[in-house]
Amino acid sequence: MPTTSLQTATAFSFSAGQQQQLYLTIKRHAGILPSTDVAALCQQYNQPVDVILRACLPIAAQFAVAPISQFFVGAIVCGLDAQGEQHFYFGANVEFTQQALSLVVHAEQSAINNAWLNGAKKIVKIAISDAPCGYCRQFMNELADAQSFDILLPKQQFKLAELLPYAFGPQDLGNAYSLFNPAPQLHGFAVTTEFDEQLLSCALAAYVPYSGNYSAVKISTFENGDFYGCYAENAAYSPSLSPLQSAVSQLHLAGLTMSKEVVKGIELLQTQGKENQLTASQAVLASYNDLPALQSISLPLKIKPTVI
Ligand SMILES: [Zn+2]
Repeated sequence: MPTTSLQTATAFSFSAGQQQQLYLTIKRHAGILPSTDVAALCQQYNQPVDVILRACLPIAAQFAVAPISQFFVGAIVCGLDAQGEQHFYFGANVEFTQQALSLVVHAEQSAINNAWLNGAKKIVKIAISDAPCGYCRQFMNELADAQSFDILLPKQQFKLAELLPYAFGPQDLGNAYSLFNPAPQLHGFAVTTEFDEQLLSCALAAYVPYSGNYSAVKISTFENGDFYGCYAENAAYSPSLSPLQSAVSQLHLAGLTMSKEVVKGIELLQTQGKENQLTASQAVLASYNDLPALQSISLPLKIKPTVI
C-alpha cells in the first residue's frame, strides 16, 4: 500500500480582494511570486509556506486558458534559485481551439517550465489544484528532484513514487541527465549574421537528450517585451513540451493573450538537420486568427572548442 498521508483541510484562504491583488502582483512578475512576497505573506497571515502555497492555487488557475474544457487548473512550483531563495513559480493549463487535444499545455508543465526558464535550480514542492493526470506524472518523472519533492493537492500530500510506481524514466533510455540537471553544453550555433543572443542561448539550454534538436521560440509583443520558450523532452516522448507551447504558456502567465493586438512576431530557432518543431508549431498557431506568420530559422551546430 502506498503511504499517502491525508492531511486535514486548511481553513485558510485568501479573500476575493486579496486574490485579485495577488493576481496583479504575479502578473506583473510574469507568473512568479518572488521570495520576499512569499515571506511577507507567511508573516502577514502567520501561516507556514505550505498553507500559503495551497491558498495561492485559485490564483494560479486564473491564468488558465481553457476554451474547450472550461476546466481551469492551477499549479505552483515552490523552487529555490541559485542563491537558495524560495520563489513560487505559477502555472496553468492552456488549450488550443480547433486543434488536436494532444497539443494542450497542462498546468504542471506550465509551472515547471516557468521555474526552469526563470532560474529555479531545485524544486522543493509542487502544489496542484487537482490530482495530476498520468501525463503530468510522467512529465514530473523527468525532473532531477523527482524522488524528493512533495506533491501537494488541496487536502493530500504525496511523493511522485507513490503516484507513479514502476516508472519508465530517462535511465531506461540510457540518459543519465534530467530536466534541471542538464548535460554539459558542448555545442554552439554556427551563426553568420547578427542574431538574438537570448534566442540562441534559450535554444542551447533546451533539454533535448532524445532528439538533439536544440530549439527555442521567441514571441515578441508590441508593448510587453519578448517571451521565450525552450524545448523540454520527456523519455516517454508524448509529454514533451514544445518550444512554442513553452513560450505561449509564458505569455499567458504575464496575463497576455495570443492576439494580433499583442503579438508582434513569432520566431522558431532549431537545429539544422534535426528539424521537427515546425509543423507542431504551425499546428498550435493555426488555433489563432490573424497572428503574424511564424518565422522559422534552422542553424547548424558546431562543437565548442575545448578549453585547455
Ligand atoms: Zn496533466
